[in-house]
Amino acid sequence: MLEALLNTLDRDARQQETWGTVASYIPELAAVDPAQFAISVCTVDGQEYHAGDYQVPFSIQSVSKVFTLALALGRLGDGLWDRVGREPSGRAFNSIVQLEVEEGIPRNPFINAGAIVTTDAVLGRQAPRDTLGEILSFLREAAGDTNIHINRHVARSEQKTGDRNYSLAYFLKSCGNLSNDCDRVLGTYFHHCAIEMTTVQLARAARFLCGGFSHQRLIGIERVRSINALMMTCGHYDGSGDFAYRVGFPGKSGVGGGIMAVVPNVASIAVWSPGLDRYGNSLQGTAALARLSRETGWSVFA
Ligand code: GLU
Repeated sequence: MLEALLNTLDRDARQQETWGTVASYIPELAAVDPAQFAISVCTVDGQEYHAGDYQVPFSIQSVSKVFTLALALGRLGDGLWDRVGREPSGRAFNSIVQLEVEEGIPRNPFINAGAIVTTDAVLGRQAPRDTLGEILSFLREAAGDTNIHINRHVARSEQKTGDRNYSLAYFLKSCGNLSNDCDRVLGTYFHHCAIEMTTVQLARAARFLCGGFSHQRLIGIERVRSINALMMTCGHYDGSGDFAYRVGFPGKSGVGGGIMAVVPNVASIAVWSPGLDRYGNSLQGTAALARLSRETGWSVFA
């Protein structure tokens, strides 16, 4: 049933009139062909299903923020919440307005400002190279796949045009919420956003958030619960409410067009289609997850 459903989702995505718009503020991402679609599902009984362009690696961008959050919680424990909040922002992913009002405490770890803080927390006093090695090791272990790498062209491309992220970092620094200098934190941040994965790798990597996969012991169940709650409430920026309404899975999107989602104790999912909606979330990826949720009855609210 799932195999046929995924093939239908793939066919449907390719028949839509619009693919959405690729992110244009990062030149390397602006060059990606929007007419692509892939979906992968891993079920807790060990089955895997894939359809579409599932062998094509894409830039995971903000999906990486889930993994840095897991590592930052490992470093600081609940002390992390003194530096970053747990509330939806209702604002764009790169918004700066709330930072001044809230004195340099970002609303949540998934907007850019929040992820810059979690990156600083993971960095601590380490060299950026070691921190990136740690993030990659976590991902490779989660996915059970050593072939996961950073695309340095994408990282450099974002570094050159990342003025908004620089302004967020300098503001955070001025409020005393970064311990490293801005270049060091952002260099690390741009590089973890530039990790490339296929939907197969990303769906496998998400198993640690799902429960039910017996071999996944990367983080404790309490942390899994916290991260899933944040993905549900904050994982799609100012489109988070709509995603919960239409799909009903904890999920995290990235401007590369990827979405990682989990159905607790049932399945982990990755979908990718590079064209975005007005909130910066994958247009066809979200539509596919909405239909998957309807047809399977997997919404956590059902
Ligand atoms: N690297 C991107 C940025 O900082 C991530 C944004 C996203 O994927 O939503 O702008």
